[in-house]
Amino acid sequence: MWSRRRTLQGMAAIAGMAAGAAARAKDRCVAFTPTMQQAKTPEAALQRLKDGNARFVAGRALHCDLLEQVRSTARQQAPFAAVLGCIDSRVPPELVFDQNIGDMFVARIAGNIASADIVGSLEFATALAGAKLIVVLGHSECGAVKGAIDDAKLGSLTGVLQQIRPALARLDYQGVPSSKDKALVQRVAEQNARDAAEQLTSRSETLAALVREGKLKIVYAMHDVATGRVAWHG
Ligand SMILES: [Zn+2]
Repeated sequence: MWSRRRTLQGMAAIAGMAAGAAARAKDRCVAFTPTMQQAKTPEAALQRLKDGNARFVAGRALHCDLLEQVRSTARQQAPFAAVLGCIDSRVPPELVFDQNIGDMFVARIAGNIASADIVGSLEFATALAGAKLIVVLGHSECGAVKGAIDDAKLGSLTGVLQQIRPALARLDYQGVPSSKDKALVQRVAEQNARDAAEQLTSRSETLAALVREGKLKIVYAMHDVATGRVAWHG
């Protein structure tokens, strides 16, 4: 009888824990409101993305009700973060960070470069729309980085790749650079993401002022397409 009671107590405790976990998951599924956005610090926004990637890598993504989020964001949006990422099909920021509708602004361009139109888009995302964090998300095996290393030429793509080549020049690489050098591809991708993060403030007084005032944090990070894991920098 005693052991049966203990078993029942154990089952009740487990059920309680499961209900608690479900409630917490449901909390994280609530679409951001302006009040929630204002309450979020840049550091808390960064932690939210770190937690999301940890869930994604662990196979514990939230799988929120997206249609419910469509309904709750129909009249307004208040995203807490913005991502500057590559167009690569393997690096969708919302999935990699396990975020949902209304959570993040996402600017995607080959090689995640901070071109003028991208900088302007991120000025909107932060100064006007209130996001507290910008993540420049580079990634492994980036085709744009490989093209830049090989100095490839193709229509308007040529101009995009030219904006990545300064990252290669900064590495002081000895010899003839080639995209077959996997270590070089990774080093250029990291340098390119770091450069883009720095350029967001050097090219935008609006973003620089937000950072100075502590209203915005800018970091860069590297996504590994083989594991889904994001390594954080800055
Ligand atoms: Zn890429």
